[in-house]
Amino acid sequence: MDKTFKRSRLPIEKYVEGILSGDRVILSRAITLIESQLVADNQLAEELLNKVLSKTGYSVRIGITGVPGAGKSTLIETFGKFLTNQNKKVAVLTIDPSSQRTKGSILGDKTRMEELANDPNAYVRPSSSGRKLGGVHSKTRETMLLCEAAGFEVIIIETVGVGQSETSVKGIVDFFLLLALAGAGDELQGIKRGIMEMADAIAINKADGDNIKRSQMARQDFVNALHMFPPNVNGWIPQVQTCSALNNKGIEDLWEIIQKFEIHTKANGWFEKNRQEQNIEWMNDLINYHLLAGFFSKPAVKTRLEKLKEEVKDQKLPAITAARLLLQGAS
Ligand code: GDP
Repeated sequence: MDKTFKRSRLPIEKYVEGILSGDRVILSRAITLIESQLVADNQLAEELLNKVLSKTGYSVRIGITGVPGAGKSTLIETFGKFLTNQNKKVAVLTIDPSSQRTKGSILGDKTRMEELANDPNAYVRPSSSGRKLGGVHSKTRETMLLCEAAGFEVIIIETVGVGQSETSVKGIVDFFLLLALAGAGDELQGIKRGIMEMADAIAINKADGDNIKRSQMARQDFVNALHMFPPNVNGWIPQVQTCSALNNKGIEDLWEIIQKFEIHTKANGWFEKNRQEQNIEWMNDLINYHLLAGFFSKPAVKTRLEKLKEEVKDQKLPAITAARLLLQGAS
């Protein structure tokens, strides 16, 4: 559906009531407020967040990443259904960096997890990668909170690709899962060390048919590679597991790992501490974002910046002087 489709805003109480009663239509409309470019919509969304904040936080937040084709959407569908069959409410937010440019992928996401999207206990929503400055997924975070207030107990945030978006998703979730594939002896190639270091678990997908043996070998390679990383501050040892999202194999084990992680990190206090730190980080990100946006939107800065850029480009002025002049001029 076209996200720019205009509808009248509801009174704030309607959003609050709707969300707290788990009304998915109202939830979607509230998320649209969050994602809106209109200040009035954002203000309403902020008011709403204030009103439902005490009802948030009661979920486990899982980040899932992996290269395109690794089987993320298949896994999320299978895993999501496994959870909804146990009467758990599952929200899936997918972040596609390309959706900023090609709106088409938003539709693509919708059809990717069709069965789960039609499950009354599930909610699937593509999430805009949000504000560009600083690469902050602040809108995804706000969306996640609304989903929690609406009663979703498991929040899955899927990122596509490798790099920037993973780092920022790691800053939103409790548990980070890397979905990998067995290759021909080159399993570890193409997966950046940083991504592996972030993972609380690595699932080697497509461990089915004649790929089972290779997947088991890949598992051992990952276990060995992880041994070389320094231990996690939370005392958790990342787990490596083979699975087949297509054949529904190893899915239960994945959930078990996540539950063990939750128990472990709640017992040693890390779970809560991490969320507190993430909240502070979120605030800092927003401050940085607004400072930058405020600075660059000043007409005087805009005009002067263009001139200074020319001078810096032509080596008439060192960058350090240009930056100082611009900052002084704006104060
Ligand atoms: P994504 O791009 O990471 O979301 O990957 P998809 O979930 O779209 O899967 C890519 C392809 O791999 C599709 O053709 C899936 O049917 C297939 N696939 C996904 N999981 C498995 C699996 O466990 N086993 C096998 N054999 N194929 C799978």
